[in-house]
Amino acid sequence: MTSAVYTDTHRLFLQAVISRRFMKEDTAKQLYSRACQATKGMSPTEIRSHFDKHQTAKIVPFDEDDFTEFVNAVNASLNSVELEIRRTRDEATGDDVLALTNTNEQKIAQVATGYTPLELEYFKHLLDAIVMADDELYCISSTAAVNEASKLKNKDNKSLQLTKSGAEELLSRFIQDKWLIKSKTGALSLSTRTLLELQTFLKEGYEEQMQECTLCLEILTKGQRCNVAACAARLHHHCAKTYYENMNNPLCPTCRSPWDGKVLIGLGPNAEAPQSIRRR
Ligand SMILES: [Zn+2]
Ligand SMILES: [Zn+2]
Repeated sequence: MTSAVYTDTHRLFLQAVISRRFMKEDTAKQLYSRACQATKGMSPTEIRSHFDKHQTAKIVPFDEDDFTEFVNAVNASLNSVELEIRRTRDEATGDDVLALTNTNEQKIAQVATGYTPLELEYFKHLLDAIVMADDELYCISSTAAVNEASKLKNKDNKSLQLTKSGAEELLSRFIQDKWLIKSKTGALSLSTRTLLELQTFLKEGYEEQMQECTLCLEILTKGQRCNVAACAARLHHHCAKTYYENMNNPLCPTCRSPWDGKVLIGLGPNAEAPQSIRRR
C-alpha cells in the first residue's frame, strides 16, 4: 500500500496547510509541488514505480490522482487528532477549494477559534437564522443580523450585552475570517469555509433544512431547483452548467420535466434579503 508511505513531503505540506487553513485548490497544489521539490520527495506515482522492480523511478507531470492519494495519506495521519483535509467546490464561484477541518464539530469553539463565548453565541444565532430562512433563501440581511444581537440571551435568560456597533464590528470579523459572505446588497450567507468546516454540525442539527445537490451530493445553499414544487431536485449552478452543457432541451434529472434554472435557492445576484428574519 503506497498510502502507508508517510514522508517529510507530507509533513511539510501539512505544515503549510495548517498555517493557511482554507485555500483554493490551486494554491494547495502549488504547496504540494513545492513540498515535493523541497524534500526531493517522490510523488505517489514515483513511489509506486520505485517499489515496482520492473520499472525505474521517473519524473512525472502533475497528476490529479497523485494529489488525491497524497491528501488521503495526510488525512490518514490526521485521523487520531480529529483533523481532516476536506475538498469541495465553492457554490458561488465554482472554484475548487480545500480546508483543514476539525472532525469534532460539535464544539464550534474548536472550529472557529479566536472568538469569545459571547461572540460564538452570536455566530451560532446567525447560523441558525440563515439556515432557517424562509423560502430556501439561506441568507439574512445585515440589518436583521445587527438587530438579532439585542435578542441574545445566555443560559439563565439574561440578555448578553452586545451593542449595535459591537455587533457590526463582529460581523465584519466573521466576514473577514471567511465564516460568512456578504453580497453586494448586504445579504449575509454561509461561506464555503463554514459549509466545509461545520458540515456534520449543519447536517445533523438541521437535517430537514440542509439540502443536497442532486448531482454532486454536496450541501447546497446556492443554486437552482426544479420548477415542479413537489420534485426534490436541486442543483448547484456549476453542476447545472456542466450537466446541461450539451443538452438542447434541459430536463430535470429526477422528474424529467423542463428545467429553466430560474427557480433559485439562495438569493438572486441583485436581490435584497428581507429586513427582518423570517424562519420557515
Ligand atoms: Zn452540485
Ligand atoms: Zn424535477
